[in-house]
Amino acid sequence: MHHFALLDGVLHAEDVPLPAIAKAVGTPCYIYSAATFVRHYRVFAGALAAAGVPHLVCYAMKANSNQAVLSLLAHEGAGMDVVSGGELMRAQAAGVPGERIVFSGVGKTDAELAAALDAGILCFNAESESELFRLSAIAVEKGIRAPVSLRVNPDVDAKTHAKIATGASETKFGIPVSRARGIYAEAAALPGLKVSGVDMHIGSQITSLDPFGHAFQVLGDLLDALRSDGHAIDHIDLGGGLGVPYEVARPDPPLPEEYAALVARHANRFGCRVILEPGRMIAANAGILLTRVIHRKTGEAKTFLVADAAMNDLIRPTLYDAHHEVWSVERRPGEEEPVDIVGPVCETGDYLALGRPMPPVERGDLLAIMTAGAYGAVQASTYNTRTLVPEVLVSGHRFHVVRPAFAPAEQIARESVPDWIDEASAAAGLPEACAEERR
Ligand SMILES: *Cc1c(COP(=O)(O)O)cnc(C)c1O
Repeated sequence: MHHFALLDGVLHAEDVPLPAIAKAVGTPCYIYSAATFVRHYRVFAGALAAAGVPHLVCYAMKANSNQAVLSLLAHEGAGMDVVSGGELMRAQAAGVPGERIVFSGVGKTDAELAAALDAGILCFNAESESELFRLSAIAVEKGIRAPVSLRVNPDVDAKTHAKIATGASETKFGIPVSRARGIYAEAAALPGLKVSGVDMHIGSQITSLDPFGHAFQVLGDLLDALRSDGHAIDHIDLGGGLGVPYEVARPDPPLPEEYAALVARHANRFGCRVILEPGRMIAANAGILLTRVIHRKTGEAKTFLVADAAMNDLIRPTLYDAHHEVWSVERRPGEEEPVDIVGPVCETGDYLALGRPMPPVERGDLLAIMTAGAYGAVQASTYNTRTLVPEVLVSGHRFHVVRPAFAPAEQIARESVPDWIDEASAAAGLPEACAEERR
């Protein structure tokens, strides 16, 4: 459910017609619906509350970490799952208190561990023995104990794209469940740690409840074992990963309510507070990427729509073979025909959709790349010295640029050429030497 819909033949974000945003802000741009973000959070947290599950929803902010989005969710009472010192800083800037922040990730640096200790976060989701030793040492220096969970790898097949599956034993994430009891014993013996929970995250864009049910079972068994070993576990963190409907033609993934019901079924056995880390489920269809068609081009066998958005703005199709629905903002009458929607970037992999049946689209038309609110703007780059596109938040009739464009002139101004650059050419050696090496 989202708030992007046709009104009088024109696609709107809530009550704002998209052409009005294109006119004011330019294209491409990301457009987010505040009501959709809030609705997703409330549906999910509400379902857990209704089922009587003591819970904390820690939004996985890597999905969309714009400060306006974080502020919106923080206002709803959400906690945050952070995966870097930078994200910790963002969570704090959005006013999220430490007791609502968990820190995940396989490579936390000493500086990041120290910053999170200073922030008094709820829990460190540790992923290796090496991390436990460092965390303990830094906490001891500060004269405190760090609350810690181990991210356990339940070795389930999440049946999702290989680049976003994290719960199988061959990924870099987590510790094998077979070693968990031993490592928990080590953690409990370290002077700077306080074992407080158990953590998992098996992957992203998971479209069936089965892998979750299986993993919850494995974690429940481990929880029993850890309690019998004498650990005082006060929470279980079930990670994120619930998929969203990207494709109209595909069967829908479970609803947030259904997922919450599954969590509720296991919650009694867990017998402790449950932390959840949804990212995509909250953010994905709360956002679109708005783009304008620069050229329409007929090839030997195909028709191409060359859009002003590209892989640097939305890399999901290229990186994960992801499907995004593409809607015409103002639909023209006529037959559908298959087109490739590509960007201007000099890479064959630069496309937004391939072989997509579209109604007639002309140069200058606006297209909406749907379900782009998660893992969209956060993965954007300036590759090909393109503008880092602006992000816009809509609420009712209002819209606001929540991140302005980062244009080439500013990018160039941030770079610095050393005053010895001419000497560097000389120092590189004689052309003859290069010719010699090339042989
Ligand atoms: C990415 C991530 C999430 C969120 O995953 P979604 O599929 O967006 O829900 C949650 N927890 C951890 C540890 C993650 O790395």
